[in-house]
Amino acid sequence: INRQATKFDYFLLVRQWPGSYCSKHSCTLLHNRGYHFTIHGLWPNYDDGTWPQFCDASNKFDEDKLEDLMDELESEWPSTMDSDENFWEHEWSKHGTCSVGIFPTEHSYFSNVLKLHRRYDLAAALRKADIVPDKHKVYRAKDLADAIHDEYGVRPVVHCYDKELSEIWMCFDKDLVPYSCDEAHIGNTCQQLTIPPLRLLPEGDRP
Ligand code: 5GP
Ligand code: 5GP
Repeated sequence: INRQATKFDYFLLVRQWPGSYCSKHSCTLLHNRGYHFTIHGLWPNYDDGTWPQFCDASNKFDEDKLEDLMDELESEWPSTMDSDENFWEHEWSKHGTCSVGIFPTEHSYFSNVLKLHRRYDLAAALRKADIVPDKHKVYRAKDLADAIHDEYGVRPVVHCYDKELSEIWMCFDKDLVPYSCDEAHIGNTCQQLTIPPLRLLPEGDRP
């Protein structure tokens, strides 16, 4: 099929739970904000489960264009494994350059992702259902999805790795209105999971 790379059907807003990665790996996170999900990315997708990526190599990431967003990017979109700038550069070139039909500029892409992230606060929804980080407590993935549905009216997809919460994905149409994800395409969910509390080593002890 010959599709224009910038035409797509919907967005996935992907947030990560850094407590899982950082409990097992050396982790580059600098700040512990407690029960707080961080952004992984906003990814254009096709309804058939595939997606466009790396749509325009000439559209290079330029951090200077994001100066007014820098404080919020550093706190809401940090990398757990690399420099923050490399992470943003990767997300821009892989997914942002495919979103130009909706977000014509790098600044509009990043500022809209931050806006969606603020509007759909995951920890706030989970906390209302008493779903909080705990080393031992086992939750059902369904209970997390239900809690988010109760708060925002749409079902996300809950992703796990090694029976720990890794990411929560929400679906948005191209007007940025959320809708319930079709799990058939983006499953990779698990039945049961823990939400390990985020613990960061003191700065001097980091690898
Ligand atoms: P993983 O294999 O860790 O699930 O995904 C690796 C990378 O593939 C992600 O960082 C993302 O860039 C891309 N990816 C995985 N699944 C999807 C998807 O459903 N939609 C889009 N747009 N990208 C995806
Ligand atoms: P994706 O290709 O799935 O959009 O993004 C995943 C890539 O970004 C991985 O190759 C990983 O090396 C890099 N990366 C840098 N920081 C992070 C982070 O905090 N979380 C995740 N999932 N990937 C990160």
